[in-house]
Amino acid sequence: MNARQGFRGNTNGSKHHPLTQQQSYHIIQQLINKVKKLKHEKSLLIRRIQDLLKIIHDHKMHSSRLKERMRLHSISGLPNHLQMEEDMAMFFSRISPDTQLSGAFILIRLDQNYDAIQRTLKSNMSEWVLYQISQRIIALLESRRIYHIRDREFLIVLKGSYETQDIVRLTKYIQREISQPHIFSGYNVHVHSVAGITTFPEQGIGKSNLLQNADLALEWAATAGKSFALYNDFMREQVVEKIDLQNSIIKALEQQSIAELDKQFTAYFQPIVEIEIEYETIQIKNHYAEALIRWNHPRLGLVQPNQFISLAEETGLIIPLGKWMLFHVAQSVHTWNQEGLQCRGVSVNISPRQFRNEDLHDILKSILHAYHIKPYQFHLELTEGTLIDEPLKMISFMTELHEGGVGFSLDDFGTGYSSLSYVHKLPAGYLKIDKSFIFNLQKDEKSRAIVRAIIALAHELGFRIIAEGVETREQLNFLYDEGVRYIQGFYVSKPLPERDYVNFLKNTCV
Ligand code: C2E
Ligand code: MG
Ligand code: MG
Repeated sequence: MNARQGFRGNTNGSKHHPLTQQQSYHIIQQLINKVKKLKHEKSLLIRRIQDLLKIIHDHKMHSSRLKERMRLHSISGLPNHLQMEEDMAMFFSRISPDTQLSGAFILIRLDQNYDAIQRTLKSNMSEWVLYQISQRIIALLESRRIYHIRDREFLIVLKGSYETQDIVRLTKYIQREISQPHIFSGYNVHVHSVAGITTFPEQGIGKSNLLQNADLALEWAATAGKSFALYNDFMREQVVEKIDLQNSIIKALEQQSIAELDKQFTAYFQPIVEIEIEYETIQIKNHYAEALIRWNHPRLGLVQPNQFISLAEETGLIIPLGKWMLFHVAQSVHTWNQEGLQCRGVSVNISPRQFRNEDLHDILKSILHAYHIKPYQFHLELTEGTLIDEPLKMISFMTELHEGGVGFSLDDFGTGYSSLSYVHKLPAGYLKIDKSFIFNLQKDEKSRAIVRAIIALAHELGFRIIAEGVETREQLNFLYDEGVRYIQGFYVSKPLPERDYVNFLKNTCV
């Protein structure tokens, strides 16, 4: 085409006028502009697409970070139960009859001290303790898989063939690290732990199965007062039995009728004696008793309080049960008074939940009044744990009781962890050294040192000291030499049914 001829406005062959040069330039210009515009739009479009892709990418990253974070424990940063579920599902799905797969689950639970820290110290302190504990575990285990599956539970999954003794050694090692003290801002706190161990494939395959085994072993260890246990089938039966027991206590207490409680529950009395030793001969100067509840289970026979008190506490059933015990003991003291027996008094254990119950004060007042009991004949035993939970309330309640003449003892002293800041504010009463220290007196110098320190502190604060769990003459001699004059323990007498205690009263009346 000749430029000079210009463009033809119409291409369908119909008659047309040739374009002028100016018109042609104009059209070309228009075309160039259109192309430029298209180019611009294209690059705009490309930029928009790029932006869009970036947004999608960011979103993906964000949601995968979120997903990742959802699979980590918010305090320890360790993989949590979600991650564990996923990993274990994948791990066990790979198993076929010819895969040689073995290993162990170690479930570790922090003890009640951690709960007490959570309840009583600022939350950042309990978080710090939890973080420290997880760091200690990580430092020990590195490559092994550690999951932080519940607030105070860690699961360690060992893959490979391990000797049982190596698994046990590792568990003990972890537990020792956990129980190292945590020292910060003037606090020195200890957290201990209980562990349950199960191995695969011999004790089962699959996450749920193994976790349940480990849980059962842990529960078994906790009940038996051990720091860890290896799973066996026998434990399952025992735990089922425990659940059975739990159900029946609920049934017994739910009825809440005094007649029913009278039928199933009773009080034993264990003497607490004030002694003097002259020429190796023990003289009982004074005595009173601790009332200890027993459950006459219709099928199981006599059940000890350690098997049901904590459950009654958890379920709140301790309130009717504790009330029944107070009335029952008051009735006994009343009878002894009427029979002219020189009863110096009885102390009754009050659980933390009972203590928090607003009624306690009125109940005590009405009991003393209704049974004509002199206030000094009624003692209350509260644990150090109650003091830690509600220090101010306990102090004012105790002061009021003390002024009214009712005595009190601080029970299981030394098993809590930091109530010293409050102990000196309590009115002077009795302080009971926990039997765990007494049991170890002969074994190690550390226990002797702790007992000496408790005695010195208690005397300094004006408390009288009761040593609980004294079983041998050696223990008694040591305690007497250190200045303890009140003794409770099998060496003097086991807890006695009421009839036998009355005989004890008659024989030792002073
Ligand atoms: P606790 O108040 O510290 O009572 C002392 C426990 O030590 C009693 O156990 C007693 O039998 C035991 N004991 C005393 N001397 C010795 C000894 O020389 N050797 C040994 N091995 N043990 C000794 P028990 O009767 O089994 O009571 C256990 C815990 O149950 C009590 O500890 C107390 O915390 C709780 N408890 C008992 N009765 C009641 C109750 O009526 N109400 C509440 N809330 N708790 C109760
Ligand atoms: Mg007690
Ligand atoms: Mg005690």
